[in-house]
Amino acid sequence: MPSIAQRLSAHREPTTVRMVVQCPAHASTLREGPALGDGSGVSWLAFLCRVHAEESPEWAGVATHADRGSVPCGSVMDFRPIEQVLRSHADLWLTSLTGVCANTGDSVWTDVLAEAERVLRARLTQAGAEDSPLQSIAMMIGLARRSAELGDLGQVASSLGYCEMLALGLEP
Ligand SMILES: [Zn+2]
Repeated sequence: MPSIAQRLSAHREPTTVRMVVQCPAHASTLREGPALGDGSGVSWLAFLCRVHAEESPEWAGVATHADRGSVPCGSVMDFRPIEQVLRSHADLWLTSLTGVCANTGDSVWTDVLAEAERVLRARLTQAGAEDSPLQSIAMMIGLARRSAELGDLGQVASSLGYCEMLALGLEP
């Protein structure tokens, strides 16, 4: 990890790591997310190539630093509390993919994920597609739902992080 990222992360462990862009380039830009409310440091660090730094307004952040290609474009270290990480997944791709909103306030991720899984399964049945990325996403959302039922939101974030990467590969 580059030293600037080390300094910005203040040696905290990220809540989760994500790939938010599908891109073969190495990062040239490090976007710094806003500071967390509890004063512990930045909310996230996003490593992007020049093109994706311009094209990713949701990862614009509050400051930009140079990065010397330390990691692939799209790598994100997310330091936000787990609820905020899950909300970010909903905002960035889960809601647009499934139509299921997560604006419920309370922790009802079990319901959100169960509904998302149901929508995707129905779509797959209709399309008769057996070997599509959507199949894998539906399966991983099923895993995320079971983790939510067990109260393991860290594992939910991990599964959704994988889904996010798969969702990037879907045809628009
Ligand atoms: Zn890129």
